[in-house]
Amino acid sequence: MGGTGWTPTGFDASYQYSTTTLSVYWPRTEHAKLLTLWPQLADQVGATWDEHRQRIERHCAVVERTGHAVNQLPGTVEDLATFLAQRGITDPSADDLLAYPDLRTATVSMTPWPPTRTEACWCGTGRKYKQCCRPHSLGSLD
Ligand SMILES: [Zn+2]
Repeated sequence: MGGTGWTPTGFDASYQYSTTTLSVYWPRTEHAKLLTLWPQLADQVGATWDEHRQRIERHCAVVERTGHAVNQLPGTVEDLATFLAQRGITDPSADDLLAYPDLRTATVSMTPWPPTRTEACWCGTGRKYKQCCRPHSLGSLD
């Protein structure tokens, strides 16, 4: 983060110093809507939904290995649009996306990652976690 974009200087201190890390992911329909509105965000979120959830799974695993608990939060385009409008942003950059959501006003609930192996996968396919995204975080993580 940094540069000339908006930075979350008002971040809740209890969040900033906690050992829990937030991971925002985009459910399939929201990912599609996001890239329809702002194709420039494909580099940040992955050009396809499969690429997106694979990245998220690996990211969560990397974070977990640093000793942090991971909470996931599903992004919605409607919520993001509100977030951007409040900041006067019409053409969001990757940094703008990273600043979302504002946890002081977020209404979507977070879910601890990972699910158990036989629970429904976090990505929303309805498949068991062990048969869906889990394989992407097994083995070596570069
Ligand atoms: Zn999955």
